[in-house]
Amino acid sequence: MSGKALTATSLDGILPLVAKGKVRDLYEINTNVLLFIATDRISAYDVIMANGIPHKGHLLTTITAHWFQVLSNAFPSLQTHFLTLDLPSPIVQDPSLCQQLQDRSMQVRKLRILPIEAIVRGYITGSAWSEYKETKTVHGESFDVELQESAPFPNGPIYTPSTKAPAGEKDENITRAQAAALIGTKHAARVEELALQLYTAAAAYASERGIIIADTKFEFGVDEKTEDVVLVDEVLTPDSSRFWDKVRYAVGKAQESFDKQFLRDWLSEKKLRGKEGVEMPPDVIENTWRRYMDAYERLTGKVWTKP
Ligand code: ATP
Ligand code: MG
Repeated sequence: MSGKALTATSLDGILPLVAKGKVRDLYEINTNVLLFIATDRISAYDVIMANGIPHKGHLLTTITAHWFQVLSNAFPSLQTHFLTLDLPSPIVQDPSLCQQLQDRSMQVRKLRILPIEAIVRGYITGSAWSEYKETKTVHGESFDVELQESAPFPNGPIYTPSTKAPAGEKDENITRAQAAALIGTKHAARVEELALQLYTAAAAYASERGIIIADTKFEFGVDEKTEDVVLVDEVLTPDSSRFWDKVRYAVGKAQESFDKQFLRDWLSEKKLRGKEGVEMPPDVIENTWRRYMDAYERLTGKVWTKP
């Protein structure tokens, strides 16, 4: 791994900025199209690190584009926000911007984003395991059998929607009824159906490549003209999902995840958890990078080559 991390973008006078997430910067190309740029920023425990992981944005964009293809093949009627990996003309005219943004950006349909996170869990871990330890329920539901940490859910994957909280606030779990109240019964039912179908197909695909997708978060938007529900955002990346190595997987304990575990462990050990402006040392960057790249190579079947 080499090169400088891209932690901020500036397209002043070229395209208007419409939003800045923890990782992505979104610019408007025209009223219907956005430029969706994955920077190299990385967050852990809800705080963005001062420096980034060089090329992480390339991996996230390529993994997402790969999944759009895999999922569109599996579900021919699936609509996604993806338009192209090509850069728009105002950028193409600027060679240094092209170099900075190529392969980490995609043009996407600008849509009304449904304000819920469509979380699907195949395995009990994270906040679901914390809830289960306390109340023997997950998302308020109980089970006929006793569950062990990291075990697959006995009746298949479960859908556990949450709110999409504004920056700085915490997402809250919501019931199906609350999801329906937020986005309407029809859209809520479609989101649930799609999220479960997409997770199930993706989990089977990843499993053949040695990866367990323990859980993931999808986002959906609505096409204002047709009212169709469209898959948006990043899809099934190490940032939006928990990936586990199939070979190392064992029930009854916490699993090491592919992506941020190394960074989280380092932050905890150094008592830097939740602190703003933390600078990651080279070995933390290197180790984190290796895990992202491993996920990229296994899922796409490609060997990483520097852009
Ligand atoms: P948050 O989701 O809280 O804004 P984040 O850190 O997850 O934060 P990023 O991944 O950095 O966000 O940025 C992506 C943002 O772009 C998300 O807010 C997502 O809802 C939004 N988004 C994704 N696809 C589209 C789209 N097609 N049109 C408009 N907004 C989109
Ligand atoms: Mg996001």
